[in-house]
Formats: sequence, structure tokens, C-alpha cells
Amino acid sequence: MAANRDYYDILGVSRDASDAEISKAYRKLAKKYHPDLNHEPGAEEKYKEVNEAYEVLHDQQKRQQYDQFGQAGMNGQGFGGQGFGGQGFGGAGFDDFGDIFNSFFGGGASRQRVDPTAPQRGQDLDYTMTIDFMDAIKGKTTDITYTRSTTCETCGGNGAEKGTHPITCDKCGGSGMMTITQRSVLGMIQRQTTCDKCSGRGFIIQHPCKSCHGAGTVDKKQTLQVKVPAGIDDGQQIRLAGQGEAGKNGGPYGDLYIVFRVRPSKDFTRRGQTIYTTVPISFAQATLGDEINIKTVYGDAKLKIPAGTQPNQKFTLKQKGVPNLRGGEPGDQITTVEIVIPKNINEAQRKALLEFVKASGGSIAPQEKGFFERLKDKLS
Ligand SMILES: [Zn+2]
Ligand SMILES: [Zn+2]
Repeated sequence: MAANRDYYDILGVSRDASDAEISKAYRKLAKKYHPDLNHEPGAEEKYKEVNEAYEVLHDQQKRQQYDQFGQAGMNGQGFGGQGFGGQGFGGAGFDDFGDIFNSFFGGGASRQRVDPTAPQRGQDLDYTMTIDFMDAIKGKTTDITYTRSTTCETCGGNGAEKGTHPITCDKCGGSGMMTITQRSVLGMIQRQTTCDKCSGRGFIIQHPCKSCHGAGTVDKKQTLQVKVPAGIDDGQQIRLAGQGEAGKNGGPYGDLYIVFRVRPSKDFTRRGQTIYTTVPISFAQATLGDEINIKTVYGDAKLKIPAGTQPNQKFTLKQKGVPNLRGGEPGDQITTVEIVIPKNINEAQRKALLEFVKASGGSIAPQEKGFFERLKDKLS
């Protein structure tokens, strides 16, 4: 897209220039900036601009639309597209208010017309990126490679071989639509349909471009550097504007959506910005209190276990959670203590525990030893 430069300025013609004047100016400039003839930096960009301006101004309908609405009328974006039945100001546009009101008030979608020659935005693309848990927390920069359709550089997207241009379709006069008359039970009815001579493009390419075979677009592998934002979560996505597929009829590129899949971590569970962990402590640590090392996504941290800590008691570590995607404060970490009851104790531990019971004013009936333990005692 020529970034909002006036098409008349690009071709250096006045706003009331005749078609012949426009064609003459175009030929002169196209020759001047042709990538095969002009290797100066910026020449290719100029060549594209000139082609874009010519494509619009030599087409009576598009020129009229451009005069009325400027580029907003050309790229189908200006007024948000959606409001007008998803068509933007394509072709038929405002000359038929009936259709527009029908789109607004739901009056028979069947009456909506889509102008096949109007600029159409390219398709959006999805790319799924699987990343490690810690990369989602800390963010990283990585390259991705994918294939998308791009505007053919050889012909600038018009599909015609170098030095030739598409000609306006004589069957539909460039509108891309034709009217057919059909016999029906209600009598003869007239119906608008896509022009069968130009397949709705409104123009015919007599000498197709050799690079794209007349399509105007070519599939290309592209490598892109992607910044994974710190704090991204599983299932979230980012949008890379203009990195999708090429548009039609000079419409803008679609967008690329990167959808993130985050591998789980063995140490951490995440819900939103909060990180959850569990840590085992002993009955003695819970009873007497202690200071222990625990894992956080930022490395080890100290956690004070107060005397009298209960099973499954939760401790909050402020701001040790996930960074805020929008730059605010990070979340917290919540650590749950798990009190571990030993499965095996030695004789000294057993005696100490019995002492503890006695000191607590209670008593415990000694456990019967199992068969294997009795056997073990005998053998030792
Ligand atoms: Zn081409
Ligand atoms: Zn046609």
C-alpha cells in the first residue's frame, strides 16, 4: 500500500487528468522505476506505488470511488468494514443505500452484493508455538518459519507480464458482475452473478506474469522474529499485523496470530498470574518452626515456617508469581506445606516419640511387630 500518498501526486497528474494522460504518466514512471532498469534504492518501492496508483486511476469505477472516499474507499478498512455487512466500501458502496440499510437492519441477507473487484483484505493465519513453562514466564525471542501468499514482486500483483497490463473485461465492463435472466415458476427473474469471462476480477490478463501465472500472488516461505511476551499463558495469542496472506485486488495483507501452547512444569502449577507449589516438611519442623528453601520461578527463596504450622497450610510469597503482560505487578506464589509422616523410624526416634507422648500426658499401646520384623530381629 502506498502509505496514504495521493495517487494523483504519485503519477504527477491533475485530479481532472484524462485517462490518456494517466496512462502516459504511468508508462513514463513505470519505465523510470522498473526494477530491471533502475537499481537505485527505493526504486522498487516507487514502482509499486506507481502501479498501485495506476491500477486505481485507470479504472473508472475505482477512480470514482477513490475520488469520493480516498484510500478508505480502496482498502475496505476505513470504516471498520463490519458495519457495512463486512464489505467496507467495496464497489457498489454508497450508490445503493437500499443494500446498506438492508445490511444494517437485517433485511434479507440475500440481497447483499459483494463486489468481486473490490479490494479484499488477505486471510489471517494461525501459527501454534509450543514453549517451555519457564519461557512463558520469562519471555524470549525466537524465529518462526511459515509459508504465506505474498504479492508477486514481478508483476506488482496485477498478474500481467512485465510491460503489459490487464485489460478491462469487455463482458462485464470491469464490474466483475453480470446479469443473467432465468426462467422460474414466478416468471423470468434477473440475477446478478460473477462474470464468467473474468471470474469476477473485472479484468483480463492477456499475457500472464511468468512468476505467478496471472494470480498476482506467490507462496513464499518467510522467517519472522517473534518476541514471546513474559507472562504469556497457555492458549493466549498475539497478533502480528500484516503478516498473514496477501489481499486481493490491492487489499491489505491479513494478520498472523501466534497461539501459544505452554508445556507443564514438574515444579510449578499456574493459574492466571498465580504460581502454586507444594513443599514437604516434617512433623517436627511443623511443630517447632523452621526456615526452609523453596523453589520459585525466580530461583530459590527462603520460607519461614512458624511453630505450630498445620497440614496443608498455605503461605503467600508476594510478587513471586507470573509477570504481568501489561507491565503491572507480578502475581504471587502460594506454597502449601505437606506434613510428611515417616514410614520407617529407627529405635532412637521411636523412643524419643514415646517420650514425647509421655511428656504430653498420654500413652500409646506398643504396636505388635509384624512377622517379618520379628524374623529380622531374630536374625540380627
Ligand atoms: Zn506476477
Ligand atoms: Zn468480466
